[in-house]
Amino acid sequence: MCPQAHRVEGVSRETQDTFSLTLEPCDGAEQPRFAPGQFSMLYVFGVGELPVSISGDPEQPGRLVYTVRSVGPATHALVSRRPGDSLGVRGPFGTAWPLEAGRGKDLLIVAGGIGLAPLRPAIYHVLRHRDDYVRLIVLYGARSPRDLLYRKELVSWARSPDTQVLTTVDYGGVSWRGRVGVVTTLFRHVRLHPDRTVALICGPEIMMRYVIAELERNRGVCASDIFLSMERNMKCAVGFCGHCQYGPHFICKDGPVFSYHQLRSLLGKHEL
Ligand SMILES: Cc1cc2nc3c(=O)[nH]c(=O)nc-3n(C[C@H](O)[C@H](O)[C@H](O)COP(=O)(O)OP(=O)(O)OC[C@H]3O[C@@H](n4cnc5c(N)ncnc54)[C@H](O)[C@@H]3O)c2cc1C
Repeated sequence: MCPQAHRVEGVSRETQDTFSLTLEPCDGAEQPRFAPGQFSMLYVFGVGELPVSISGDPEQPGRLVYTVRSVGPATHALVSRRPGDSLGVRGPFGTAWPLEAGRGKDLLIVAGGIGLAPLRPAIYHVLRHRDDYVRLIVLYGARSPRDLLYRKELVSWARSPDTQVLTTVDYGGVSWRGRVGVVTTLFRHVRLHPDRTVALICGPEIMMRYVIAELERNRGVCASDIFLSMERNMKCAVGFCGHCQYGPHFICKDGPVFSYHQLRSLLGKHEL
């Protein structure tokens, strides 16, 4: 429960409202390893504490990287930190993407907006252990070209063998030469083998519901091979306070990554 003091080593701008922060422990202590999909509680002293997914490389645990979109007071304070500032960090917490279940199979990653951040460590893992997986398919949608995260990396991932990376935006503008449309429109460019596909999804809940419907109804992917990361407001992050309760689950300790099989009866229920 006690935050460990960390120093901001670097801040890089990803989009107009989204920044990646690199943190290192102030006392030089070794960091606990994290698994792709896990999150930390970041404490901006005097402002508040909030859950943020770890978006860096799991094989470089000494450098904790977080990608934060400024949406309110705590996230605004976070993205306003400068190198040398300190922050409190608790964690890592929560469940991870089931990368073991994807071994020997095609891994399909579907992300919307800031949802690419918790999936990036999974992509790093697959690219590092390329022989363990068959195809890597990344489908990514953002509101506009200016909102696409990790643009250089998207280009370099697409150059990897047996890897397909497709992006789309809701509104293109005059200079955009890429695809326009919601992320589900990308499925028409992808050939899926349902019996050997594991899907990892993160984005706005409405987007995740449409992606799941496409995968399950139209593509025949089994509910137990579909995984999603959920978000709810959180306080303690260790299952005591109940803030993040979602039906019978606490998102902080039973999630944030769930199989769709676990959530089927809850997803889309009004005000849950
Ligand atoms: C497990 C987990 C991982 C997360 N990872 C990231 C991440 O990698 N990067 C990132 O930028 N954000 C992430 N978030 C969301 C982030 O924690 C919230 O955006 C943040 O708490 C908002 O705090 P605020 O004070 O800036 O805004 P507030 O004033 O609290 O909220 C601003 C707006 O955002 C909405 N909001 C607040 N919290 C959430 C939430 N958890 N889910 C959906 N909407 C919310 C509010 O309803 C309001 O409309 C994650 C959340 C969870 C639960």
